[in-house]
Amino acid sequence: MAINRSDKKIIMVLDAGHGGKDIGITGTNGIKEKDLNLKITHKMSELAKAYNIEVVQTRKGDDYPTLDQRVQTVKANAANVLVSIHVNDEHGVVNGNGYEIYVDRTGAQKTQSNVLASAIASKLHLMNIQPRLVEKGLFVLRNANAPAVLIECGYINNANEMAVLNSDTQLEQLCRNILSGVVDYENGTK
Ligand SMILES: [Zn+2]
Repeated sequence: MAINRSDKKIIMVLDAGHGGKDIGITGTNGIKEKDLNLKITHKMSELAKAYNIEVVQTRKGDDYPTLDQRVQTVKANAANVLVSIHVNDEHGVVNGNGYEIYVDRTGAQKTQSNVLASAIASKLHLMNIQPRLVEKGLFVLRNANAPAVLIECGYINNANEMAVLNSDTQLEQLCRNILSGVVDYENGTK
């Protein structure tokens, strides 16, 4: 697969949701969301350079930056985009499935964030993932002064979706498609 390299260097803050005392959700098999989020963001960081994306991670280990600290990371690095990575749970829904890409519903960057969300969604379609695009109120996304999306990478108790994250090949494909979507977004807004 040819790499969709950006002409201009993109500074992307990559936020692994939760961490430390904040586990996020726990799967029925005991797996913790905070660890899955970190696994995805580490893989994305490893691959990003080839896309001409410089990644700044809000956390690299099992610690808990506050939501405000995550916002400050975006501001301090004058990031071009913020991508926050999470894994979903059922919220009472049986057999939850699918990906969601969230955009803050009130933020100043809402329009651009929606363009970013669509660019990433288009790339995920290539691996038969059809994310739902949802607007809601999210502190980190709203306060980051950059286009910002939060991606829920499937449901923690959905075996097929977790198989993607547990397969080196499929995880890499997922990460490459997200990175490629960010590049398409930046190229489109030049
Ligand atoms: Zn989460």
